Amino acid sequence: MKAQVFRGVNQLCYEDIPVPTLKPDEVLVQVQVVGLCQSDIKKIRYPLYEPPRIFGHETAGTISAVGSEVTGWQIGQRVAVMHHIPCMRCDYCLNDNFSMCDTYKNICTTAGFAPSGGGFAEYVKVPGHIVQNGGLIPIPNNISFEEASFVEPTNCCLKAVKKAQIAPGQTVLITGAGPIGLMFIMLVKYFGAKAIAPTYSHPALKKL
Ligand SMILES: [Zn+2]
Ligand SMILES: [Zn+2]
Repeated sequence: MKAQVFRGVNQLCYEDIPVPTLKPDEVLVQVQVVGLCQSDIKKIRYPLYEPPRIFGHETAGTISAVGSEVTGWQIGQRVAVMHHIPCMRCDYCLNDNFSMCDTYKNICTTAGFAPSGGGFAEYVKVPGHIVQNGGLIPIPNNISFEEASFVEPTNCCLKAVKKAQIAPGQTVLITGAGPIGLMFIMLVKYFGAKAIAPTYSHPALKKL
């Protein structure tokens, strides 16, 4: 399969690599759409991670193979893929610090090399822990793969909206209407509040 492999800072290579093989509790997803997160750009531009890796964690696709012990999932099903899922049992999880959880940090979807998301490849492998704990989300027929690929970033925004206890009738200032800011505007409105966002000019837009 083809994959975009991170080979070092600012070095991405379009390579042929083997399709991941499955353990009995794993699921293989053919990637249809993957979002490009600001954090992916950061991981590519700065020496934060040892290469080689395949990034990409805002993935939506079609199940193309299931391990022999997997129940409840079929080939051909459309799914949004969460790249990691906390254990919900450790001290970190019990205090809502999910991103500090060992399970969350160490079990991740992969297309090969050190597990790092893997969405920037044709196929991504979903570990058993993620399959069994809500990390595959069925996509309803009226939702496109493009829309489904927004589940992960929307979830990040939702966390903040809940933490800030946004409620009907409030007015919320959103400082910056980039992709995440635009999602915040929609969520804030969804929860019945009014959003104010200053116009934001990204340096890249000035070149257009
Ligand atoms: Zn992201
Ligand atoms: Zn945990």
